[in-house]
Amino acid sequence: MTAPLRFTTSWDDGHPLDLRLAELLGARGFAATFYVPRHNREGRPVMTSAELRALGAGFEIGGHTLDHVRLTGLPAAERDRQIRDGKRRLEDELGRAISGFCYPGGAHDRATRRAVRAAGFRYARTVTNLSLEPPRDRFQIATTLQLFPHRPLTYLRNFARRGRWRARALPLAICLGDRSLDGCLEDVLRFAAARGGVFHLWGHSWELEAHGLWGALDRFLRLAGALVAHEHRVPNAAVIAGDAVSQPA
Ligand SMILES: [Zn+2]
Repeated sequence: MTAPLRFTTSWDDGHPLDLRLAELLGARGFAATFYVPRHNREGRPVMTSAELRALGAGFEIGGHTLDHVRLTGLPAAERDRQIRDGKRRLEDELGRAISGFCYPGGAHDRATRRAVRAAGFRYARTVTNLSLEPPRDRFQIATTLQLFPHRPLTYLRNFARRGRWRARALPLAICLGDRSLDGCLEDVLRFAAARGGVFHLWGHSWELEAHGLWGALDRFLRLAGALVAHEHRVPNAAVIAGDAVSQPA
């Protein structure tokens, strides 16, 4: 018998619209992990401490550096400060420890992964998409789809650059065969529900607003609500719990 599909979601950048997202996810009965920096060097707003605590009351919070900076290529001391101080700030504001991290821009290499682990994080998410496998390396957690209407070329580029092609080929083929974001989300989820594994949806609340994607998210959550039992809708931390995972190489 196929193991039941586990369904997780994650949302990056700590924009104040994350609270709207949390409301929608909560109303539809879904767990999520929010990866939050404390400033954003690209100029987008970030939640206040009070907003962060409100979000953290119902959802997992993870690190995303202090200032939302790409970590590869940074001097080691600055890279480590961004990872550690981002973690400390979130923990001070929330009053509890956090265990997850997400690499800004998906940029990571061996030294970055080691630094994230050394800072006390237990796992880290990437921007690799089209994966339905349970994580093999807890510091390189892949996703399935971003809530964003990517062009076919973007899916192809992500696929080509990020390896594990055999396991990702069918989700890629499904998405390339669909003409819309809704179709791609639905068809990959139905495929996943029949075969098991992990479906990991991710995105940015500011992007949902900028591209008018709130309705697409709501439609997709209604569908997922019909296909995924409550006990299998989990935060990112629960996707690694219990899986045989390797340490970062
Ligand atoms: Zn980000």
